[in-house]
Amino acid sequence: MTRVIITGVKGRMGKALVACAANFRELEIVGKIDAGDDLSAVIAKSDVVIDFSSHSATPGIVELCGKNKKAIVIGTTGHTDTDTFEITKNKTKIPIVWASNFSTGVNTLFWLTRKAAEILGTGFDLEIVEMHHRLKKDAPSGTAKSLAEILADVRKLHLNESARHGRVGIVGERKQSEIGIHSIRGGDVVGDHTVIFANNGERVELTHKASSRDTFANGALRAALWVVKQKPGIYDMQDVLGLK
Ligand code: NAD
Repeated sequence: MTRVIITGVKGRMGKALVACAANFRELEIVGKIDAGDDLSAVIAKSDVVIDFSSHSATPGIVELCGKNKKAIVIGTTGHTDTDTFEITKNKTKIPIVWASNFSTGVNTLFWLTRKAAEILGTGFDLEIVEMHHRLKKDAPSGTAKSLAEILADVRKLHLNESARHGRVGIVGERKQSEIGIHSIRGGDVVGDHTVIFANNGERVELTHKASSRDTFANGALRAALWVVKQKPGIYDMQDVLGLK
């Protein structure tokens, strides 16, 4: 039996995790933590923490896992460079699965995006469009950033220089090195992502649409079962799914 603590348990994802965990016989929830609760008081009785709280809470939660030698699955997005540095420090102590998106479909989209970018080559302009519900706090989505990183990697570009977050005013003609990233917010959209490859005379669009948070929750629970058996290090969902 793998003993799990969920942080951010009262949130949209936290609730989905609790509901979906009921279908995993090999998994037991031993702690439900939200803002104001003391994770350090219950962490000893767990094997793994699943964190869907907030980007600013994640570094402290990972630190506590590091001290207590507990594995962690990180689902939060929107981390600052400092958050990322603090989280990464623990990679020699504990196994960490850190993924911007835990859905199998999106991880397939990651794979297809790499393949399409390799096949289509530099003649195609690259744009990413994402849409989420009106309550989402960070932009662009972590998934859109992951897609942009894949495109930049294939094209051998530095994302900091190539990313073009929206356009307004006299921005001039599009440069070949640009990777456009556009965030739409509205309603209750769980998460839509489209990668556009546009050339003269033709266009390829790869789209994934999530209509239920259960897809992320089931992936994160699967990752929790997997990560407790791994050596210290940082892994992503492609590792969990065996796509590498
Ligand atoms: P939400 O706002 O509904 O829930 C977040 C919960 O975390 C709230 O209940 C809040 O009180 C709690 N929280 C805040 N600070 C905390 C702390 N210090 N300790 C414990 N709990 C704390 O948000 P959500 O839609 O559930 O999303 C949560 C995070 O997960 C976001 O960063 C979101 O972008 C990310 N997300 C990731 C994936 C993925 O597949 N990786 C999918 C969906 C959402």
